[in-house]
Amino acid sequence: MNYETVIGLEIHAELKTKSKIFCGCSTKFASEPNENTCPVCLGLPGTLPVLNEEAVRLAVKAGTALNCRVNYLNKFDRKNYFYPDLPKAYQVSQYDMPVCTDGAVEFECGGRHIKVRINRVHLEEDAGKLIHLEDEPYSLVDYNRAGIPLIEIVTEPDMRSPLEAVTFMRMLKSILEYGEISDCRMEQGSLRCDANISVRPVGQKEYGTKVELKNINSFRELQKALEREEKRQIELYRFGEEHKIVQETRRWDSGKGRTISMRSKEEAHDYRYFPEPDLMPVIIDETAVSAIKNSLPELPMEKYRRFTQEYGLSDDDADNLTGDRYLSEYFENTVREGAAPKTAANWVLGDVLRMLNESDISSREIPVEPARLCRLISMVEEGKISNTAGREVFREMFAGGGSPEEVVEKKGLTQISSEDALLDLVRKVIEENPKSVADYRGGKTKAIGYLVGQVMNESKGRANPAVVNELLVKELG
Ligand code: ADP
Ligand code: ZN
Ligand code: MG
Repeated sequence: MNYETVIGLEIHAELKTKSKIFCGCSTKFASEPNENTCPVCLGLPGTLPVLNEEAVRLAVKAGTALNCRVNYLNKFDRKNYFYPDLPKAYQVSQYDMPVCTDGAVEFECGGRHIKVRINRVHLEEDAGKLIHLEDEPYSLVDYNRAGIPLIEIVTEPDMRSPLEAVTFMRMLKSILEYGEISDCRMEQGSLRCDANISVRPVGQKEYGTKVELKNINSFRELQKALEREEKRQIELYRFGEEHKIVQETRRWDSGKGRTISMRSKEEAHDYRYFPEPDLMPVIIDETAVSAIKNSLPELPMEKYRRFTQEYGLSDDDADNLTGDRYLSEYFENTVREGAAPKTAANWVLGDVLRMLNESDISSREIPVEPARLCRLISMVEEGKISNTAGREVFREMFAGGGSPEEVVEKKGLTQISSEDALLDLVRKVIEENPKSVADYRGGKTKAIGYLVGQVMNESKGRANPAVVNELLVKELG
């Protein structure tokens, strides 16, 4: 018997507003505990919420980018539960009239075209954070996060494998980043995902019982958690024990590589949802929605297609570039300056990306202007400097070193192509490497690569390798 996996995701993303959703407190990360709080977000009696218009704007932007319908009339509801991370003992959320509904995201995965329908996008406030101390009989609470605006995005159960779920999440993350809707820092919790998963025998129409997985904070963990849970459920089926798959929430323990049962799933009526009496329904006008639509940039999927068609890039290069809006813009600006697309893509996905990762600088703030990278690329192409030297020049420019011409001049990196200048070095290397020379003369023509490398080292990367190769062949022949 074969089994089919069914996955639906519930994603929370913190919106990129300066202040919280119902008060003026800052949303800045890494402040002192409880620094960003006031009577409203601490839930003190007598306070009233005031809705942050920018949060609504960003939620509409997200919904639009996800091809949803915007609900011109929507409203807030109270979701009641008692837990110390929630100072009011209810969360202001949206229940039956969310801001956006009925969208879809389409993408390619494993050679298949996938369409994941979006059930809804709703606005809500984030809760605080509890800090459980190891050796103390009490816990601490930090309300800096309480009241930060969130959108919750709920997909239909349209994914059929852990890989599809991860690919969807990557696509969603880049859409939210392109639209400057959320920072999407999974490691800081500004993008979080709960994954619902069930399996069913192939051919069965009804879905199996789903399990919800929580506590997943990276794409890698999402894939591992889903694969592990998929295996657990299929095994229960194989042993005829599928009744043991119950609707519950399981926590992913990445250390143990297992999912662990936390609690059986609450039903909606446990939350006693009712309309939030302290906030007016939200009315959005059509002109505002079209302005938001027009403010959206070209989205990753379209850009990906355009990059493969317009620039002839490989699927992988186009995918890697367009996964990041700012990296793709940097690439495109470099091409506009005159660089060949394939070469520019190699540089951007190679040395540019490497330097960004090493330096912790964001792709939005690449310190080398595209025009300078383009001139550097030409210097390498024209043979003025070697490829190795080019990479060194780039590192120097990245660290604030100036224009490529200046760096080449300062570091004396101009490529040496004249035979006269290289002959001494070639002879020296031949003298110092009798073994490789003997190998070469004995028919191991590959040994010449090593000798070329030695000349390159001696010249500190400045020698023109093609000329060196020729000279070596002549001298040894
Ligand atoms: P609930 O009533 O438990 O809240 P919903 O129908 O609202 O369930 O769905 C919550 C999430 O679970 C959605 O992302 C949805 O796609 C997903 N989901 C629903 N049913 C299944 C299923 N049988 N298998 C996997 N995921 C599912
Ligand atoms: Zn506040
Ligand atoms: Mg539900």
